[in-house]
Amino acid sequence: MLVHTDMASPHLAHGGSAEQLHRWMPGIVAGTCITAVAVTEPDAGSDVAAIRTTARLEGDTYVLDGTKMFITNGVHADLIFVAARTDASVKGARGISMFAVERGTPGLSVGRALKKQGWLSSDTAELVFADCRIPAANRLGEENAGFYAIMRNFQNERLVLGAMAIGEAQAALELTLAYVTQRKAFGGVLWEKQAIRQRLAMLAARIAAGRELLCAIAWRDARGEDCVKEVSMAKAYCGELVNEVMYDCQQFHGGFGYIRESVIERMVRDARIHAIGGGATEVMLEEVAKRMLG
Ligand SMILES: Cc1cc2nc3c(=O)[nH]c(=O)nc-3n(C[C@H](O)[C@H](O)[C@H](O)COP(=O)(O)OP(=O)(O)OC[C@H]3O[C@@H](n4cnc5c(N)ncnc54)[C@H](O)[C@@H]3O)c2cc1C
Repeated sequence: MLVHTDMASPHLAHGGSAEQLHRWMPGIVAGTCITAVAVTEPDAGSDVAAIRTTARLEGDTYVLDGTKMFITNGVHADLIFVAARTDASVKGARGISMFAVERGTPGLSVGRALKKQGWLSSDTAELVFADCRIPAANRLGEENAGFYAIMRNFQNERLVLGAMAIGEAQAALELTLAYVTQRKAFGGVLWEKQAIRQRLAMLAARIAAGRELLCAIAWRDARGEDCVKEVSMAKAYCGELVNEVMYDCQQFHGGFGYIRESVIERMVRDARIHAIGGGATEVMLEEVAKRMLG
């Protein structure tokens, strides 16, 4: 859902022409046209500039060839925003463009639906483009300016992922509070153990700090301020925090927390991706570090 609303569709909102917006946005807003964004490849994830999928211009047609990996909504998407290399003569960030590819386009196929540790209700797929021909009019924005569009959209994507992580952390904390205030051990409930309630109190403080940080940065981002450093900080902080919260919350659920029927067990698996997807923690910290020296 968040990929549709906050990670894929913004590519059209930011880079689409009036005609492209008119064509696809009504369906996207109505939820009848589900979107995906395909940047990652088997050999290029964190290093976006290393993508190898190509888009060759032939008359008024672009021909796409390559493989995309870990694409959320990949099986069910009606419209996929694809990053491909349009200028083979330049390496790295330059020479990448964004394209809108509709489901059913000959040459586009789902390689396989991927089985994951968590996020089991989300579809994640490998997509294959083989001699996939799309109208030249389906290019989003300027040719060879796709890398900058991807980086721009990453800011919103990372804020939203941070917010998702904080929401999950808060929910896990509330679930655990409900559990430890009724679970009995050693003549009382677990909440009466100072070690437990203080650990939960500290988690509550850190979750509150993460939420305030996100709100402050979202406000600055909405005002158009450059806050790549702060967005990266928030993504790294929230992505790690949610995993630490999950660890403690599962711990205080005892054996029940390890059993598939418990909610916290699923939440632990779902949270793991937050330190990896949409910019791994280390990659976010590099973005922060490079901006620390001025
Ligand atoms: C469930 C799921 C959904 C996804 N959805 C999408 C999607 O819809 N669209 C899309 O395009 N992609 C999607 N992705 C891809 C995701 O964004 C990448 O997996 C992520 O960016 C990491 O890239 P990678 O897997 O290639 O890891 P790599 O780039 O190979 O990195 C592996 C690990 O090395 C470490 N690392 C990497 N770079 C550095 C560095 N500079 N310094 C120190 N350590 C480093 C990190 O710990 C990283 O996790 C999804 C992935 C998953 C698992």
